Amino acid sequence: MRWIDTHCHLDAAEFDADRAAVWQRARAAGVMMVVIPAVAAPTFDGVRALAHELGVAYALGIHPLCVDRAEAAHLEQLQDALRRHAGDPRLVAVGEIGLDWFVPGLDRERQQHFYLAQLKLARDAGLPVLLHVRRSADGLLAGLRRIDVPGGIAHAFNGSAAQADACVAIGLKLGFGGAMTFDRALQIRRLAAGVPEHAPVLETDAPDIPPYWLYRTAAQRAQGERTQRNEPAELPRIAAALAQLRSWSLADTAAISAANARAALPRLAALMDAMHAA
Ligand SMILES: [Zn+2]
Repeated sequence: MRWIDTHCHLDAAEFDADRAAVWQRARAAGVMMVVIPAVAAPTFDGVRALAHELGVAYALGIHPLCVDRAEAAHLEQLQDALRRHAGDPRLVAVGEIGLDWFVPGLDRERQQHFYLAQLKLARDAGLPVLLHVRRSADGLLAGLRRIDVPGGIAHAFNGSAAQADACVAIGLKLGFGGAMTFDRALQIRRLAAGVPEHAPVLETDAPDIPPYWLYRTAAQRAQGERTQRNEPAELPRIAAALAQLRSWSLADTAAISAANARAALPRLAALMDAMHAA
């Protein structure tokens, strides 16, 4: 079976010591493609270089949790990078962008400014968006109603059923990952089970959002227990949770989630087709 990890921060410092081995394990597990979303302008070149080195895809954007440290010039850098790399087949989206209304102490107006500006850049570049959403689905949707981007993915989706419906209606796919593997994640599991078949895509968000088998409580971590770092090789096992929730076979889960990812990110589909033909 072949899997697509639609959201994986392979450039993160957590992978500095063993990035090649992490990617090897992912390939061995059947993860044929990942999308690496940038989170801040200073990382754009590194993310792009890594995607080319590994033969995968990437996105460029400024993450809402990085907005406080971002400068206005970073939006110009994004615009410039999107123009310069418009012909790069590995550049498949603008992201990771969005709104985070969960983490306390963030400047919402500043987040909103960067979010809307980046939606406009995505629209002008004709690229879909990879969206970060936390307690912010309504704000996210309001932006998308104002600025008409060509779809994308609401990653690690965690809103209500009504918000999920609204995201799907506006043309977004919904990303499901490690959170769905926890029995107590009732709302996310309900969504994973119930959204239309054309909506779910799979992701790890590695090194973040560990599935339950990697999760360590703060107390366990304080006692020096093994890292809870997530990695793309976990995707098939995470996918098994979606298969179970939807009563799909694992093969159907792979096929449906891949088709949805390709529909959300047309340049990813073209890239994979070109790689397959080569
Ligand atoms: Zn992310």
